[in-house]
Amino acid sequence: MHRVACPGSFDPVTNGHLDIIGRAAGLYDEVIVAVLTNVTKRSLFTVDERVEMLTEVTGRYGNVRIERFGGLLVGFCAAHGITSVIKGLRAVSDFEYEMQMAQMNYQMAKVETLFMTTNPQYSFLRSSLVKEIARYGGDVSGLVPDTVLSRLRQRLAQE
Ligand code: ADP
Repeated sequence: MHRVACPGSFDPVTNGHLDIIGRAAGLYDEVIVAVLTNVTKRSLFTVDERVEMLTEVTGRYGNVRIERFGGLLVGFCAAHGITSVIKGLRAVSDFEYEMQMAQMNYQMAKVETLFMTTNPQYSFLRSSLVKEIARYGGDVSGLVPDTVLSRLRQRLAQE
C-alpha cells in the first residue's frame, strides 16, 4: 500500500490545501493529512476544529484520513508506516525552507519528500492571508470551502 503524509497547520484548510490533497489522493492508495498540534504560533481554530473542517471537506475522497501530530514529522511517519511526504509548493519563496526540511527528514529517517506545484489559481493563497482578509471584512469566498467560510465568519464575529 502506498501511503503518503500531507502535513500542515491547516488553520484553516484552504482551497489550495484541498487541491493538493485531492491530487495526492489520485496518486496514492492512502493520504494521511497530518494536522500539526505544536503550539508555536497562536491559532484561530483549535486542533479539534481544524480536524473537523478537514474531515468534512475531504469526505468525498474514500482514501483520505485526518490525523493529528506533534513533535517530529519523522516520528509520526514511523508510527504510521509512512515513508513519504507530499508538500505543495506555491512559489520559489517556499522552496528554500521546504528543501531544508526535506533534506533533514531524509537524513534523519529516510523519509522522502515529494513536491507538487500549486494550481496557479491558488499560488497566492495561504491560511494567514485568508484570516487577515476575513478579519478586515474582505471577501474570502472562493478561497476556502463553504464550511470554513461560515466558521470564519462566526469566529471573527466573536472577537
Ligand atoms: P499555510 O502556509 O497556508 O498556513 P500550512 O502550514 O497549513 O499552510 O501548509 C501545509 C502544506 O500545504 C504546505 O506544504 C504548504 O506549502 C501547502 N500549501 C499551503 N497553501 C497552498 C497552496 N495555496 N497551494 C499549494 N500548496 C499549499
